[in-house]
Amino acid sequence: MGKKLIVTFVFAVFFLCFSMQSLSAAGLKDIPNNYSTEEINYLIEKKIINGYPDGKFKPDNSVTRAEAMKMVGTALNLDGNKVKSTFPDVEFESFASGYIESAYKKGIIGGYPDGTFKPHQSITRGEMAIVISKAFNITNKSHVNFKDVDKNHPNYESIDKIFTAGITKGYPNGTYKPKSFITRAEFSVMVARALDPSFIEETNDDTTAAKPVKPSVKFVRVNTTLNVRKGPGTNYERVGSLRNGDKVTAHSTEGQWVKITKGKLSGYVHQDYLVDELDRLIVIDPGHGGKDSGASANNLREKDVNLEVSKYLKIYLEKKDIQVLMTRETDKYLSLDERVDFAVNNKADTFVSIHANSATPSASGVATYYYHSRARMDSRTEASRVLSAFIQDELVEATGMRDRGVKQAGFRVIKTNPLPSTLVELGFLTNKSDAKILKEKKQVLAKAISEGIISYYNWKEK
Ligand SMILES: [Zn+2]
Repeated sequence: MGKKLIVTFVFAVFFLCFSMQSLSAAGLKDIPNNYSTEEINYLIEKKIINGYPDGKFKPDNSVTRAEAMKMVGTALNLDGNKVKSTFPDVEFESFASGYIESAYKKGIIGGYPDGTFKPHQSITRGEMAIVISKAFNITNKSHVNFKDVDKNHPNYESIDKIFTAGITKGYPNGTYKPKSFITRAEFSVMVARALDPSFIEETNDDTTAAKPVKPSVKFVRVNTTLNVRKGPGTNYERVGSLRNGDKVTAHSTEGQWVKITKGKLSGYVHQDYLVDELDRLIVIDPGHGGKDSGASANNLREKDVNLEVSKYLKIYLEKKDIQVLMTRETDKYLSLDERVDFAVNNKADTFVSIHANSATPSASGVATYYYHSRARMDSRTEASRVLSAFIQDELVEATGMRDRGVKQAGFRVIKTNPLPSTLVELGFLTNKSDAKILKEKKQVLAKAISEGIISYYNWKEK
């Protein structure tokens, strides 16, 4: 084997590995999570571009003319079967000989005046403009005015065409840099935009894929649930949903839509439903009221105990910067559904209903209830259970009352409630020692519940 043949052989082996490596951008080691990887993922899925054998994508590497032809040729479904090339410097065995020949015959790319193709030379952004405009038959023009590409520039027409089509936006400083070698990330952005116009965004420049978009934490603020869509608009397929109060990571914006992720869920939501800081907004629901006194025993009426404890609870929570709304602050009657509607309409994130128990005199103790549909264990149910458990623990610890436990029940205010919610039974009016606590230690009860609620918020926002 001559030296040239060995070089060609090594080259071919390298590209065999190169093209066998198929990873998603998420699995590539050198694309940090905060890079916009959509275009790269899109091309990887279409097998147009690949990672390197070491698991890296190398977004800042340049692209050779041969690689560019293989990738564009793959995108266009050109014949890639190896052929004897028109160009003396393109070996039959080259991974790209077929694609180079097909592209040349279609007029997508030409050689150099000396008759060579220079397959191992990096392709420039100016050359890429010609390739893309010809490959995708782009003809419209709009007289673009890049600082560094005047009307006499040999690549002006092609750059104008791909700019008009939205495939290039140039750099933020108003240049196009026609002589710069295109990076793999920039190449991916251009080819993805050419293949699928949904990648054309209003504001981004060509450095999109290489530019870290600083991710930020946002919170969902919505009455009940928020649809997550595959693309930036309501016409896109729904890929999942978020709940009020959910914490998400925002990556980029497209018009009024924000690209978000939450765990494995990834998609777009309208910006109106995201807030920077989640103000904690809880609804406290003192049970009963007005014509409905609830239980009565030992000179106590349940509706009064519930309201007084709730009022103290409001004070303790507000001291901790938690916003509190109460379904009632006076002795008035409200239906159960009105209580739930009140919380939902006010966009509260959590609902706590305060009650006291009654039974035979021997029954005593604290219990908290949450609703668990048999059909599903969702995030609301889990949050409700945790909320109940924190409150239950604090109440038992603060009062020494009997621990009746965290229980499941279908009380209407927690069953029909879309929010994480709990119903607290503070103790038994009908039991002598419980009644004494309900009469004399309302602030202790309220303080304990407030601490349970704070622990719950800290858990939820972690
Ligand atoms: Zn009650």
